[in-house]
Amino acid sequence: MDKAKLLQELKEKAENDSNLPLKETAHNLVFGEGNPEAKIYFLGEAPGRIEDLTGRPFVGPAGKLLDKLLESINLKREDVFITSVLYFRPPDNRNPTPSEIAAFAPYTDQQIEIINPKIIVTLGKFSLNKFLPKAKISEVHGQILKINWQGKERILIPQYHPAAGLRSSEVLEKLKSDLKAI
Ligand code: URA
Repeated sequence: MDKAKLLQELKEKAENDSNLPLKETAHNLVFGEGNPEAKIYFLGEAPGRIEDLTGRPFVGPAGKLLDKLLESINLKREDVFITSVLYFRPPDNRNPTPSEIAAFAPYTDQQIEIINPKIIVTLGKFSLNKFLPKAKISEVHGQILKINWQGKERILIPQYHPAAGLRSSEVLEKLKSDLKAI
């Protein structure tokens, strides 16, 4: 079966999964989007207000910055796959809890298995800690790390979250230079 079809089935499974947390307060499930054949998989934190309203990942202010950062390394959204650790917006954009992250994890893992990207780019600490629970983003951002995930070797490139780049010009500079690692 082709990857687009497998991803569509996975999305429908998530939409019908009554065990997923945060469904009651969210407007839309934000499964992620992009090229099913992508070599690069971007994993953020959780949908914000605009993502919640549109059902699309990274379309608010942080997403606009991500688009610019991608452009700066000659990539377009359509070339990569973009999603987040949570598919539903936490109320008031609070941090995801460990149990919420755990509830969505099987979906992220299946997405990775289907897309089979060479490179996983984590945006922010929550997605970094999915793969490297003890890593500190201030220490590993911009590094090219080899990880074994679900029995496969992949390259992990941790980045700061673009929302942090909107709050701090110092982080923005780090994001710009770290992106070059990709
Ligand atoms: N931040 C995220 O981590 N994901 C989104 O989809 C939007 C903002």
